[in-house]
Amino acid sequence: MSVPDSAPVVVIGAGCIGASIAYHLGRRGVRDVVVIEKEPFAGAGSTGKAAGGIRAQFSSPINVLISMRSIEAYERFAEEMETDPVFFPVGYLFLLADAERWAAFRSQVEMQRGFGLDVRTLTPEEVRAMVPELRTDDLQGATFHGRDGLANPHEITQVYVRQARRLGARFEFGVTATGFEMQGARVTGVRTSGGTISTPWVVNAAGPHAAEIAGWAGIALPVAPIRRHCFTTEPLPFAHERLPMIVDMKSGVYMHRESGGLLMGLANREEPPGFDTSVNWDLLERVVEPAFHRMPLLEQAQISNAWAGLYETTPDHNAVLGPPDAVGGLMLANGFSGHGLMHAPAVGDLIAEWIVEGRPGLDLRPLRLERFSEQAVLAESNVI
Ligand SMILES: Cc1cc2nc3c(=O)[nH]c(=O)nc-3n(C[C@H](O)[C@H](O)[C@H](O)COP(=O)(O)OP(=O)(O)OC[C@H]3O[C@@H](n4cnc5c(N)ncnc54)[C@H](O)[C@@H]3O)c2cc1C
Repeated sequence: MSVPDSAPVVVIGAGCIGASIAYHLGRRGVRDVVVIEKEPFAGAGSTGKAAGGIRAQFSSPINVLISMRSIEAYERFAEEMETDPVFFPVGYLFLLADAERWAAFRSQVEMQRGFGLDVRTLTPEEVRAMVPELRTDDLQGATFHGRDGLANPHEITQVYVRQARRLGARFEFGVTATGFEMQGARVTGVRTSGGTISTPWVVNAAGPHAAEIAGWAGIALPVAPIRRHCFTTEPLPFAHERLPMIVDMKSGVYMHRESGGLLMGLANREEPPGFDTSVNWDLLERVVEPAFHRMPLLEQAQISNAWAGLYETTPDHNAVLGPPDAVGGLMLANGFSGHGLMHAPAVGDLIAEWIVEGRPGLDLRPLRLERFSEQAVLAESNVI
């Protein structure tokens, strides 16, 4: 398979991020963008493993702002993309059982409301009225934002690919990027298994593989692949279509409706970095126990499926966006640390704007690569 000799922009990776960037470049008039994807189809990496959660309830203002843009885009998505609905605004319900975290969340709510978000604080009684199946006697309170919700990762990515192609992008599936052509401190081309493409712009959208790609230009990108699991249950009578995403901040367990049952996930804090995506069934017990505690009716549930994928994790659990200072012609869109799907629309638009206009329409300096060496890291505490 041979690739074009040149392109105005080469994107490495056709996950939700690369596909969104290709689409938004097309919308901004850039034709003949080439997207290189080693797998035979789009969304085969982390994107296809995502739980589908979309939220604006973050502790860092920059994440709130990116999420707000993305939620607006997801709300318009079906109409703009001429497709079926892919986003379901059922809301995110964060449950807080310890006093310190509850105080931190209440102050975050002030910040989020300052940006215009209609985030509510709820008493345990109000939580029970919203979801009667939840155990609430040990809760201090909860926060709820009704415009958060759930989305279909695979469908979103496929639609971005379709629309990007309509706008002139070319997707090269089954082609692996293997290195860069460099002139001094500038990337001038991408070597691939199908030939070399010369280009003024390369976008690293390689998800958990991003550090390897950045390394070709001598950039140390602190993005580590960390395995995360999802377990689903058989259908349950109380898993109705309006059930919000429920996040228990004490245990870290989260649950939402999936195929008539529930999807459950919980971060294993001891998981070492690596590319293994096999299911570790020993973790099921660790997920199920806090899930039963929070929703005792789950005791009757049968597990129906499990899968594992890779978070692309940075030390401060925030993305790295933009061109690195040390190398020209390279754009980073990496390290989403569990929130790549929810940030894909805004990130695609901002990176495209950066390439076309020379700067993005939102101040993304908090997410620059150099924050790690400048000790200006931006810790995001609402990570699940
Ligand atoms: C279990 C789990 C649950 C999650 N839940 C959520 C959630 O609820 N909400 C949310 O927003 N996010 C969630 N995420 C995170 C989300 O899935 C990621 O942040 C997002 O998918 C990252 O998208 P991406 O396009 O950057 O990466 P990917 O989807 O991994 O795409 C990168 C692509 O690059 C390709 N590639 C890599 N190297 C090369 C190469 N050398 N040449 C060619 N192609 C290459 C890969 O094959 C891959 O297809 C979850 C992740 C996991 C694992």
